[in-house]
Amino acid sequence: MTGKEIAEIMNGLFRVHRQIGDLKYRVRLLERSVEAREKEFREAELNLSERLDSKRRALLVVDENERAAATAASELERRREQLNSAKSDREYEALKIQIELEEKKNDSLADQTLEALSALDEISAEIASAEERVRTADSNLNKARATREQESNKLKIEIERALARLKESELKIPRDFVGFYRRCVDNYGGEGALAPLCDGGYCGSCNCQLPPDEVARVCDGAAICCSSCGRLLFAPEQFAPN
Ligand SMILES: [Zn+2]
Repeated sequence: MTGKEIAEIMNGLFRVHRQIGDLKYRVRLLERSVEAREKEFREAELNLSERLDSKRRALLVVDENERAAATAASELERRREQLNSAKSDREYEALKIQIELEEKKNDSLADQTLEALSALDEISAEIASAEERVRTADSNLNKARATREQESNKLKIEIERALARLKESELKIPRDFVGFYRRCVDNYGGEGALAPLCDGGYCGSCNCQLPPDEVARVCDGAAICCSSCGRLLFAPEQFAPN
């Protein structure tokens, strides 16, 4: 077999490996896209559940305030009734002071209730936007899953076809390449197993400069692995002599 013929076989093999690598990469991208959308959805749900907890706590505060305000209001009422039936000036004055204090307490509780209600309003608005975020995340996740479903089926078919082409190409590998090739595929995976020679006599995998006689032998069709990275070297078709 001539160097040119060997170069053709090895280049064909390299292209199929690259194609398979690219197809598998696209499958992984689809998976990653779904994973990212799943993470987004979980975060949106967690955010919503935290907001709902805040609302429950805020409602308790409003409830407590309203009860305290009701107690304070009835206490004020009681003092006012006592004032009407005060038996002495001293008692009257003491009750007036008491009433002033109760009124202040009532005002402060009313302020606190207003604050708690406004906090509750804010939380309700946050909940509405958190719910919207969950809906968007859910829809994005469903879209990503649908795309994965649709695309990965096509990719699987393409991968099967490429694997069939790989099998055909592997049958053409010259006998003295087979051992090196198998070992490199086992060690570095399909796409990483082969290294094309680059301009200037560099290894296309590790970029190491190769000895000129080694470059010449690879171009002539010898089975040689890069002494630096161990990949099986091959000459691009234009490098190989006829
Ligand atoms: Zn190398």
